[in-house]
Amino acid sequence: MRFLFFITLLLCVSAPPHEARSAEPHRPNILFLFTDDHATQALSAYGGPLAEIAPTPHLDRIAEEGMLFRKCYVTNSLCGPSRAVVLTGKYSHLNGFRQNGDTFDGSQQTLPKLLQEAGYQTAMIGKWHLGSTPTGFDHYEVLKGQGQYYNPLLITNGENVKHTGYTTDIIGDRTLEWLENRDRDKPFFLMSQHKAPHGRWEPALRHLEWLDDVEVPEPPTLFDDYSGRSSAAIGHAMGIADHMGPHRLMLQYSSKHTPEQLAKFDAYYRPRNEAYLEADLSGEERTRWHYQRFIKNYLRCVRAVDENVGRVLDYLDEHGLAENTLVIYSSDQGFYLGEHGWFDKRWMYEESLRTPLLARWPGVIEPGSVDDEHIVSNLDFAETVLDAVGAPIPDDMQGRSFLPLLKGESPGDWRQTFYYHYYEAGGHGVPLHYGVTDGRHKLIRFPQEPLDAWELFDLEKDPRELRSVFGQPDYAEIQAGLEQELERLRRQYQVDQPE
Ligand code: CA
Repeated sequence: MRFLFFITLLLCVSAPPHEARSAEPHRPNILFLFTDDHATQALSAYGGPLAEIAPTPHLDRIAEEGMLFRKCYVTNSLCGPSRAVVLTGKYSHLNGFRQNGDTFDGSQQTLPKLLQEAGYQTAMIGKWHLGSTPTGFDHYEVLKGQGQYYNPLLITNGENVKHTGYTTDIIGDRTLEWLENRDRDKPFFLMSQHKAPHGRWEPALRHLEWLDDVEVPEPPTLFDDYSGRSSAAIGHAMGIADHMGPHRLMLQYSSKHTPEQLAKFDAYYRPRNEAYLEADLSGEERTRWHYQRFIKNYLRCVRAVDENVGRVLDYLDEHGLAENTLVIYSSDQGFYLGEHGWFDKRWMYEESLRTPLLARWPGVIEPGSVDDEHIVSNLDFAETVLDAVGAPIPDDMQGRSFLPLLKGESPGDWRQTFYYHYYEAGGHGVPLHYGVTDGRHKLIRFPQEPLDAWELFDLEKDPRELRSVFGQPDYAEIQAGLEQELERLRRQYQVDQPE
């Protein structure tokens, strides 16, 4: 006994001060990997027709060693608004960022600030897209606005720093550099956020030829005629057929390449573009060519993301960080990869409502687990991270920690329904709308004149959302229940938007 006491005393006396401060081994690091417009259809852990053609082995590793969520919904399917929700745990009308072009109020309570208070070092690297200067980060280096795919400028703690190379690789490099130089006395919260695979889809030079000889399968709704629903979808301006324009189709490229980069880029695209123009396609043939051009460039951008996620996961392994780091992978929203004939997002329909969510935390999350039952959301990310590090969750946050779900528990009072609200009326022809879903049925309201419409979908019978059953007698009870639930959620979340 006396011997043990002596040993303990010796250990206490001999421990250097920094080790004493970091003697909280259970406070995990948080690595938040985030992308822009990455659809679950293009993440092979989710399966689907693209999984074999364009696998994402490194992202899949997070799912294999952790958990995959099939019902992660965003509150407002758009880039900036989603990022503001992640930072605040609040719906757009309360965090003040309703649509792209708004400026995020960086003086408000945010996740990184709360983590700083909890003793974390915080860093933000990559795409920010919130207008204002990042706050709450000990270190930041962010793309200006949307950023560009080649030779990006990164605003680095207030200074403009120009980089040469492919942006996805550079964000990977900067992430590794920060990890290498971080303060090892503190746990970290690192947001590593790619611009990719946001349009216009400019692949890395090493991926230009990849998929060249592959015919990517078309989604069954590529030629959707929008019958069977309200007239909302007909007014879209996000058609593969008619709205991509020469830049998205890479018939023109204006990214600021170096001469060497441009030579390789041009050597790939020019002959193929000339052949396309020569063929003078029309109708469905032309749409099909547009789709192949779009989807291949998109998948090539995803591939570079996947490779860079792999580099970061390898770093965690090689530096003994994997065990004590919660890795979260998500995207700011889903995306249409030709479904309904579209590219882009915004709608409350499935492809853009849901977003990928993978999480790995060895010893806490059972490897290879899948949650296809619970509705989770980007509204819950901040609360979950705070919960994981043992910090208090402020009462005014509107989501809920899904840490119990990560641990394999199933709380009896988990949310059964989810509220959605899209504000950027007119962007790509998508009207303002809001709605509610229970994961099986979905009620959508387009309140503005002249549309003034409702839609109701039964996802079990109609998973592609081609036939609204709003007003049908068979669904009267379900419809009434969802209408009531919609009002209840609007009150609960203090939605200020009048009809
Ligand atoms: Ca986005």
